[in-house]
Amino acid sequence: MAERTELLEAFGLQHRIASHVGGELVAGQGASVELVDPVQGEVWAAYADAGPGVVAQAMTAAEAGFRAWQGLTASARGLAMWQVGHAVRARLEELALLETLTSGKPIRDTRAEVLKVAEMFEYYAGWCDKLLGDVIPVPTSHLNYTRLEPFGTVVQLTPWNAPVFTAGWQIAPAIAAGNAVVLKPSELTPVSSLALVRIAEDAGLPKGLVNVLAGLGPTTGEAAVTHAATRLVVFVGSPATGSLIAGAAARNTVPSILELGGKSANIVFADADLDRASLGAQAAVWSGAGQSCVAGSRLLVERPVLDELTARLGRAAGHLVLGAPAEPATQIGPIISRQQWQTVDRMVREAEAEGARIAAGGRHPGGSLERGFFYAPTLVDAVRPEMAIAQEEVFGPVLAVMPFDSEAEAVALANATRFGLAGAVWTRDVGRAHRVAAAVRAGTFWVNSYKTINVMSPFGGFGRSGYGRSSGREALMAYTQTKSVWVETAADPAPGFGYAG
Ligand code: NAD
Repeated sequence: MAERTELLEAFGLQHRIASHVGGELVAGQGASVELVDPVQGEVWAAYADAGPGVVAQAMTAAEAGFRAWQGLTASARGLAMWQVGHAVRARLEELALLETLTSGKPIRDTRAEVLKVAEMFEYYAGWCDKLLGDVIPVPTSHLNYTRLEPFGTVVQLTPWNAPVFTAGWQIAPAIAAGNAVVLKPSELTPVSSLALVRIAEDAGLPKGLVNVLAGLGPTTGEAAVTHAATRLVVFVGSPATGSLIAGAAARNTVPSILELGGKSANIVFADADLDRASLGAQAAVWSGAGQSCVAGSRLLVERPVLDELTARLGRAAGHLVLGAPAEPATQIGPIISRQQWQTVDRMVREAEAEGARIAAGGRHPGGSLERGFFYAPTLVDAVRPEMAIAQEEVFGPVLAVMPFDSEAEAVALANATRFGLAGAVWTRDVGRAHRVAAAVRAGTFWVNSYKTINVMSPFGGFGRSGYGRSSGREALMAYTQTKSVWVETAADPAPGFGYAG
């Protein structure tokens, strides 16, 4: 595709998908990784897995980048980050289209996500010179104060569902706190992260401050997690891989932050505005073809409105626009890979075999989309809470509907999961909205809304959805460690032995 080639060239990547280390593209040393266009189902590029040798180079580059970054004043770091935000805005259309043509995400989504990347750099730019410590009124003659210090080199591992968004989401707070970054995006979608670091360096970030590894998880990713220079690991991805990585990091005595999956409950009471609840339920699970960690994949509906809401959603499923991701009208693009398509379909077939009913979708839409990894927006009802379709993350456009008869039952059903990433309630009863928001175990909860997020607000999981927080002030704190400094101020301090006090 000529457009994709031109865009790769515009970001210095034509025929050269490779790791970005210390400002240079460094070819991988491992096995060949093929990139498949999810719209056409064909291989469009291949690159060599970075491997441990390139990881070691990235770690060295990050140490140099860290020193250069620490050599700047906090205000200069903030200014550089602000300029990155500005540069991302200036190249928004190019970067969004690059993401669309290399990940299959609709352009309407990637434009919004790239805009959020700009906002992330701008928001954290303002924090660079406001990372304040405390003065503690200790009961001795000491001045005791705290400093918020960076860890050093942070390894970040990101998934394929929102590649450039996730890169910005993790890079911006990490560097605002003073760290250097070695980021390994999903092997399926490395291109937009490579483009982002190119933009950031052109805008003034020191080379080596942010390095991007093009490579596989078990080889390149693991080498980065277990490298001796790694000081913090931040993982965004599936629960199974997350626990592996946290274990590997712990054996390296390195802390980790995990942003994992979910099985979020979207609860609709009979008094809700059903027009809005219906639109909200569609956006919650079918946008992004359901490849969203916060997907509202369980719809809990109060019985009096169950039939009406299910019927509305069934009709809507047939009207959503699936198609070429670069077309502005397209609402739903393909699933990222054939393998993931097969996982989604297998889970739908298993639900059917367990007695659930496929009320809409549940198949490839066919027609002109035949070659791509498209999946029709799917509605599954007659679901029981213990079924896999109500318990496991599908990561596809599949909505499981279950009825409830009371507020207590709605909350119990919402909490009948190991996950705890997000959830929502639709009701006109203000008291009930707050009661349910308090009772559902989830890191993010919406009332009469779904999927609103902002860089200013903390985001993260409860339970098996992970730990630690990304975005907001809390992400900045997660990327710093506190040092306590004691200064003797007495003219004639008492000689101490053991703990002076
Ligand atoms: P994944 O776990 O397969 O991979 C995530 C990243 O980890 C990739 O870069 C991968 O190459 C790397 N990796 C895999 N094995 C590794 C290993 N042994 N050592 C080091 N790195 C390794 O996830 P995915 O399939 O790419 O993404 C989908 C998942 O991500 C879903 O579960 C989704 O819910 C989750 N997700 C969570 C959030 C959140 O913020 N909570 C956001 C987006 C996606």
